[in-house]
Amino acid sequence: MSRTALVDVIAAVQDYVRYLQHLGVAELPVRLVPAAGATGRAVQAEPSAAATPLRTAAAEPAPAVRLAQLAAAARACRDCRLHAGRTQVVFGTGDPTAALVFVGEAPGHDEDRQGEPFVGQAGQLLTRIIAAIGLTREQVYMLNVIKCRPPNNRNPQPDEVAACRPILQAQLACLRPRVICALGTFAAQALLQTEEKISRLRGRFHRLGDIQVMPTYHPAFLLRSPQYKRAVWEDMQLVRDALQLR
Ligand code: URA
Repeated sequence: MSRTALVDVIAAVQDYVRYLQHLGVAELPVRLVPAAGATGRAVQAEPSAAATPLRTAAAEPAPAVRLAQLAAAARACRDCRLHAGRTQVVFGTGDPTAALVFVGEAPGHDEDRQGEPFVGQAGQLLTRIIAAIGLTREQVYMLNVIKCRPPNNRNPQPDEVAACRPILQAQLACLRPRVICALGTFAAQALLQTEEKISRLRGRFHRLGDIQVMPTYHPAFLLRSPQYKRAVWEDMQLVRDALQLR
């Protein structure tokens, strides 16, 4: 295994352990033993004698595990020019089992530095919007269509969107939310594969397979044009009602 691949695997394991800690898991009921027929360093996890048997081998890996694997693949991605200028790949954050997922456009300066979506000024407003429907950032999942920051926050180019699409699709297939809130023109158009303006898309649900998609204005746009906050509130009330959050 190359050094880069090893670093990615370690980062994926760290992400997963952090997620488990966030859930309050303090220890893992496994011990590492050599895999049957394996030579050298290969190991597999087995339930320890004291642990409750937890048979996951035949089952699908949990969403958090699949997401951690995908995040590792995204960190190694060099499929478009944006990899050259990134500080960090901004994969996504939140509860991998969340019913509600927010999809933004692309990481900005703060997100590129911190490796987490929506941590800048627009992100702070998004956190307040989420709170307004009775949820916290930790109870939803946030991601962007593009995982690497475009230079000077320019709009992502079509080939960059195309290069990132397999990761976006795989990520949404893991998350399987009930509702996606698409933030801004770019996310709404990329998800719904349309060129319709956000002003015509917002205010009603669209379908992406069995997921309901609510396009609404981007929080960065609201910072510049606060008069549109009312429209976003109306959209968020529809989201809240669809999720029966009251
Ligand atoms: N704008 C986005 O679309 N995504 C972020 O993560 C930050 C700002």
